[in-house]
Amino acid sequence: MDGISQSPPVADKILVTDFDGTLTRYDFYELVRRELVPPGTPNYWDQYRAGVITHFEALAGYFASITADEAKVLALVDRMEIEPRLKSAVAELQAAGWKIVIASAGCRWYIDRLLASRDVQLELHANLGAFQPGRGLVMELPTNSPFFSSTHGIDKAAVVRCNLATARLVAFAGDGFPDLDAAKLIPANLRYARGDLAAALTREGLPFHPFQRWSEIAQHLLAHIPSQDVERS
Ligand SMILES: [Mg+2]
Repeated sequence: MDGISQSPPVADKILVTDFDGTLTRYDFYELVRRELVPPGTPNYWDQYRAGVITHFEALAGYFASITADEAKVLALVDRMEIEPRLKSAVAELQAAGWKIVIASAGCRWYIDRLLASRDVQLELHANLGAFQPGRGLVMELPTNSPFFSSTHGIDKAAVVRCNLATARLVAFAGDGFPDLDAAKLIPANLRYARGDLAAALTREGLPFHPFQRWSEIAQHLLAHIPSQDVERS
């Protein structure tokens, strides 16, 4: 090569996506809180929202309170309802040049299982964890991650910033409070939101594309983002 043309970026177009509530219909922690947490367990979510504990501590608190056996917890993982069209939607996006990166403040323990259940492999940044009978799902901070956050495990905004530095286009999809800083780094035409993230963006007057299911995002990107242009704004 003559060195005149810039070497192409690792990926031209990247979709950074949340997992719980975005690639799935339901959040794992919400199902755990509703169905598996013993009476008398503190309201860790309210404590997190009040700034008393971190997001990681709230989720880890609920997961550690699980007394059910692993089979019961795995049955709950199935009820998160991962996007049924995931495999074909991922294939269509990848064929159009999109790379998909999952940035999650949840736990690999169930994310790995759900992705495998759809025969899908994607770059994943999430908390570590293992099920231990009698101790529940023991979640650990991913201190070796380049995107480590002491409050969430993974700093989603850092994941987005890293990809913005190399890719021509970066889209983001999410549904929760931990997604807000990441979503704000993305131009409105590539920002997808539902749930608490949609409400937070609306409060700040920031536009976004609403969605109900993750496959809608894939369809929208394929239909509205041409394969070779569109400036990053
Ligand atoms: Mg979420």
